[in-house]
Amino acid sequence: MTIADRVARPRPYLWLWFVLGSATLVVLGVLIPAARPFAFLGTEIAAVTAIGAGMRLHRPRRMAPWWCILAGLSVPLVANVTWLALGLAGVRFGYPGPMDWFYYLMYPLIFAGLLGLPERGGKGAWRAGTLETGIFACAGAVLYWTVLVDPVLNNLDAELTAAGSFALAYPLMDLLIICGAVRLAIIGSGRTAWNALVVLAGLSLTVGDTTFFIHVVDGGDGRLNLLSASLCWLAGAVLVGATALHPAMSAGGRLADVRRTHPHLMFASYLALVLIVPAATTVSLLTELRAGSIGAVDVAVPMGATAVTLVLLVTRLTQIARIAESRARALVVRGAALERALARQESLQDQLSHQALHDSLTGLPNRLLLRQRVEAALAGGGEATLIMLDLDGFKDVNDRFGHPTGDALLAVVADRLQTGLRAGDTLARLGGDEFAVLLQDVADRDAVTIGEKLVALVRRPVEVGDHRLHTTASLGLRTLDARLSTSEMLRDVDLALYAAKAAGKDQVVSFDERLRAEQLHRTRTVDGLRAAIDRADFAVHYQPLVDLRDEQTVAVEALIRWTPTDGQQISPDQFISVAEDSGLIVPIGAWVLRRACLDAVAWHHRYGVRLSVNVSVRQLREPDFAHVVREALEISGLPAHALTLEITESVLVADGGGQALAHLAALRRAGVKVAVDDFGTGYSSLAYLQHLPIDSIKIDKAFVPVEGPEGAQQVSLIRAIIDLARSLALGTVVEGVETADQARLVHSLGCHLGQGYHFSRPITADAVDRLIAADRLLFDVGHVR
Ligand code: C2E
Ligand code: MG
Ligand code: MG
Repeated sequence: MTIADRVARPRPYLWLWFVLGSATLVVLGVLIPAARPFAFLGTEIAAVTAIGAGMRLHRPRRMAPWWCILAGLSVPLVANVTWLALGLAGVRFGYPGPMDWFYYLMYPLIFAGLLGLPERGGKGAWRAGTLETGIFACAGAVLYWTVLVDPVLNNLDAELTAAGSFALAYPLMDLLIICGAVRLAIIGSGRTAWNALVVLAGLSLTVGDTTFFIHVVDGGDGRLNLLSASLCWLAGAVLVGATALHPAMSAGGRLADVRRTHPHLMFASYLALVLIVPAATTVSLLTELRAGSIGAVDVAVPMGATAVTLVLLVTRLTQIARIAESRARALVVRGAALERALARQESLQDQLSHQALHDSLTGLPNRLLLRQRVEAALAGGGEATLIMLDLDGFKDVNDRFGHPTGDALLAVVADRLQTGLRAGDTLARLGGDEFAVLLQDVADRDAVTIGEKLVALVRRPVEVGDHRLHTTASLGLRTLDARLSTSEMLRDVDLALYAAKAAGKDQVVSFDERLRAEQLHRTRTVDGLRAAIDRADFAVHYQPLVDLRDEQTVAVEALIRWTPTDGQQISPDQFISVAEDSGLIVPIGAWVLRRACLDAVAWHHRYGVRLSVNVSVRQLREPDFAHVVREALEISGLPAHALTLEITESVLVADGGGQALAHLAALRRAGVKVAVDDFGTGYSSLAYLQHLPIDSIKIDKAFVPVEGPEGAQQVSLIRAIIDLARSLALGTVVEGVETADQARLVHSLGCHLGQGYHFSRPITADAVDRLIAADRLLFDVGHVR
């Protein structure tokens, strides 16, 4: 075991062993008078040593007070050793003598030590403890005086001698030590047993000193070895030593964290003091009066002490009142603060739950809250309809005008939609430009009407800042079906919305089971397309564009064909839109472009035949689209001016960030031509044509005149379009020419280019080779003839 271990080992009963050991030594001293001085001195030395050992063992945080106490016990020891040594040498002192000054020194030293404990911490507790100590000390002094000292003095035949006055100083100084001990008990954090030891030590010294005082006053010799007093002094010293060895010693030096106040006990003790002190003073004064021996000291001492007691008591009570008042005030303040905090917490809670269930931009319920309401409606079993609405081309608004404008548009749309709904309906924003509505208690037909009303509300132009935005919305709806889950409901209504978009946007579509089948079909198509890209299951066919004047093929349009390995050819109408939605059109389109350029380069070089390739909006949104086109031209060797890109009107209208237009402008600068395909089926705003980077328009087959009364109307329409294009210096092609009559008519209207089954169906590259060669041959023969 190391020294440190030994030191650290707890010794809870060391103090008891010390007390028992010292007591044995004292008893030996009492029983063997010859050994008495040495036994008593030994006890004193043991007490001083115990303090030193206790300081080492317990290492209290503050050593100074313990050094004071150690010094306090050492002083009489030094005096006694000196006294004994001088006595053995034959030198004797009378009483009072120089040794008494050493003894006197003990009291202030121990008192200072006790005062130093506990260290000053919490101001209130320290002051209160000290005040209370003062009160008890003064009261004790009054009682001590009236009960003990005064009667002794009264019984004296003569005035108090110098020896008596010296002896009286001892018990009076004991009051200091008892005060210190009581104060520690009040404010220290030592255990009760430890405090009891301290108080007992003080009491032992007091009893010893009082006995000595009475003995001296009674005419005893101060130098006589008064056994009873000596035993009390020794007991005091041993008890002080024991306090240092007690395990609570280091804790005794600390201020109690929580002051133990017992209101009833305090009240009882104050009351007792207020009653007993004046009563004792009165009794003492009356006794003196009756004896006729009343003097100035008799009145001054008890009255002075009583007055001081009362002043301290009043001070303490004022302090208590002040503490109570400030605590009450603090409680009121704390109560108010608590109330405020609670209110804040409540509002924060409201805010948080509102935030969790609402959209921050529009303040509308969010997806989560909508789901909750749909769930409730499904459980309720009433007639309800779920609507999902999405703005058409919102991304472009964001790209073109910036997000703040987009946000403002959403806020206006949200407000408008709200005006079209009843109080019980829920309008929610699901995110981005997607809104949902839960219509409560509504029949199917009415739901469709409300949906149409909502779409019409969105269609009205919106003014945001300097911009006037034209936007539309697509809307899907579905009646709630209690057999389905909320997720299934949302999935179905989403399908209806998708169908509305696919059907051309700006419209309402109600869910029906076919949509689910179509969705399945779309998913399968996407899977098939993915596999087709890997396996190169695609081919490009070409349809001639013919000069109506001489029926010569001047260009060919590349049209993709997909023949799955295990199935029949699938028409582009069936898979292009799926490829666009899934983004697969980007790699597929790039492949078509390259394949077509490679095929067409020979036709161009030999016969001057040009190439048209269809391009989707989705492709034009890719940042590297122009690069892809240039690469196809470079690889194939086809000159840029021999290529025409066919785009649809939707590209031009919905090109938010201008990416598509930028690509087209760049490619046109390089010589590539741009044609608007299916003209007349899209937005049909003729006015914007002149501002666009295009070279020609392909008039949709829907405008090709047919037999019968509608024919006349179509003729006037197609003529108007051709005239307009000419005025804008745009070339024209008419698609879907199926008969010779149609070809002649179109020609007569001023359009020189036609495309259609009348001239040729889309054919393979080899067939194009043969066709063009035959064409030229015929043409040349015709010319020769
Ligand atoms: P489009 O660009 O307008 O192509 C013309 C479509 O009309 C072709 O259908 C063609 O076969 C058809 N057609 C030609 N002459 C006649 C006629 O006299 N009468 C009738 N009723 N139809 C005629 P196809 O090949 O099925 O292509 C359909 C659409 O698919 C194309 O319309 C085009 O928008 C798209 N498409 C085809 N290939 C591609 C491609 O490689 N990329 C992209 N993005 N779209 C393509
Ligand atoms: Mg086309
Ligand atoms: Mg077309």
